[in-house]
Amino acid sequence: MREQIDTIPVNEAFDAGDECPFCVLARKAEQSAIRYVIGPGASYMEPDVRSVTDEKGFCREHIKKVYDYGNMLGCALILQTHYAGLLENFKKEAEAFEQPPKKPLFGKKPTVTDRWWQRLQEKEQSCYLCEKNDYNMARYYHTFFALLKEEEFRKKVESSKGLCMRHFAKLMQIAEEKLPEARKEWFYPTLFRLMEENLTRVKEDLDWFVGMFDYRQAGADWKNSRDAVARTVQKLKGIYPADPPYKEPK
Ligand SMILES: [Zn+2]
Ligand SMILES: [Zn+2]
Repeated sequence: MREQIDTIPVNEAFDAGDECPFCVLARKAEQSAIRYVIGPGASYMEPDVRSVTDEKGFCREHIKKVYDYGNMLGCALILQTHYAGLLENFKKEAEAFEQPPKKPLFGKKPTVTDRWWQRLQEKEQSCYLCEKNDYNMARYYHTFFALLKEEEFRKKVESSKGLCMRHFAKLMQIAEEKLPEARKEWFYPTLFRLMEENLTRVKEDLDWFVGMFDYRQAGADWKNSRDAVARTVQKLKGIYPADPPYKEPK
């Protein structure tokens, strides 16, 4: 059943004509996760949700997105308990802190077993939204590989615009574990052809865009190059640089 729920968004993403269907899915999953965390459902008022955001916190990218959403009271409440927990923990760690032993001039460096800074770094990178996104994307990848059984879906993949490099790399990793032997003969040549053709197409759009700034090109047709810079960034990194921040619907 779960699989059927996910086949609709995966099919829609491949119908969207985007530079990468997995970017479409990732954007949708991320926006729905942000809406869940800070949106009108006010899940941040539920103690079980709050205790998880308190513990995991948010990475740099996602704390900005939670802030940008525009629900300042919700944001303040989420931060309030997370911050209080962090401060409490900080005090405990500070109390237990022991200055690292002096480095000897000669001989081996003493081994430090208690790496407080490592725990701090891990905490700083831990993210509730990253984990939620990873979970949802894993489901979409799973559905993608399940759908490859259907010829109609394979045709859809064949006529897509390929993927971005980020999602291509991820797909290649998962293919190694998930792809049945019988499907490999179709999968690898198709994906490599798609990637090369479409990376080339976007490069040509970018070249055309640059060329348009040559005075000899004055008045020429932009063709498909107006958004070439944004699409190039997407192909490289799997993001939509031209997207405005995702905000609370007015
Ligand atoms: Zn992508
Ligand atoms: Zn994150």
